[in-house]
Amino acid sequence: MSRFWSDVVKGLKPYVPGEQPRLANLVKLNTNENPYGPSPRALEAIRAATGESLKLYPDPNAEQLKLAIGRFHSIDAQNIFVGNGSDEVLAHIFLGLLKQARPILFPDITYSFYPVYCGLYQVDFETIALADDYSIRVGDYAKPNGGIIFPNPNAPTGCPLPLTDIERLLQSNPDSVVVIDEAYVDFGGASAIPLIAKYPNLLVVQTLSKSRSLAGLRVGFAVGHVDLIEALERVKNSFNSYPLDRLAIAGAVAAFDDRDYFDKTCQAVIASREKLVKELKALGFEVLPSVANFIFVRHPQHDAQESALALRRRSIIVRHFKLPRIDQFLRITVGTDEQCAALIAALKEILSS
Ligand SMILES: *Cc1c(COP(=O)(O)O)cnc(C)c1O
Repeated sequence: MSRFWSDVVKGLKPYVPGEQPRLANLVKLNTNENPYGPSPRALEAIRAATGESLKLYPDPNAEQLKLAIGRFHSIDAQNIFVGNGSDEVLAHIFLGLLKQARPILFPDITYSFYPVYCGLYQVDFETIALADDYSIRVGDYAKPNGGIIFPNPNAPTGCPLPLTDIERLLQSNPDSVVVIDEAYVDFGGASAIPLIAKYPNLLVVQTLSKSRSLAGLRVGFAVGHVDLIEALERVKNSFNSYPLDRLAIAGAVAAFDDRDYFDKTCQAVIASREKLVKELKALGFEVLPSVANFIFVRHPQHDAQESALALRRRSIIVRHFKLPRIDQFLRITVGTDEQCAALIAALKEILSS
């Protein structure tokens, strides 16, 4: 605390990202990165964009990227907003669409950045408890609200919500913006993007950080009715006209155009997940149903935090949240089959000692 801080800064409770230790030979299963790396075509496009042209500002509208996303999802560029990672897109959504007279609603167990944005932009919120099986019950959101937001699949549970439930939510909240954060949808979930033509109150957010393995490039986007997109453009153009640099635009376009690599790597993650789930169940873990590139597990006889520390001593890091209702769970990113095998071998040792 310093006397130079503004009152806003004094009151902030910033998000704490998963750690990025610089240790060699670490099996890093704590921040849901994709182990297969970016498309070689994306890397080539980034290299090709590295030159004299960097003296020029990038296209403030990233039109080429909006067109590439539009080709992939069969939607118009005018229905797309792009930003410096989906975290930035979400920030603009909180200020531009979710800051309303009534409190917004999100689950009690969800992406922990949402309450942080509420603190930053002074947005009132109310949390809605997940069911005992950790699923979202859309009926619980049928109350006056200033907007609704949650990830699908939810994080850190990995549990999917069927599109029929999302449609029910949209129909019962026609005067609220409903934001579906699809950071992990490409690992087996169903995207709500096809519903935007039918529901002007739906905004879908996606990122290239997980399924396209470009967390380091910082590209995310939102899809929705032009009126919702215009709100985000107004915020963006009052904040930073050039959120995406030339390298990010070039790499992201190429990543979207390389469908084969995308399909192949997502399928590999899904196959490893299914194998890992079976092996963990065989060790006595309870595994929540996941359609993400991570799983959320607990062991009835072993304390989660102790297990996380024991894994760490064996150079394997997973994420443990010291939070009500989930402090006995570990969130484990699905790595390569080799990384998953290392995890299983270590857990066998830990559980038998
Ligand atoms: C990873 C993640 C994001 C942020 O992704 P970036 O595009 O890297 O900023 C957003 N929402 C959820 C639920 C995530 O897990």
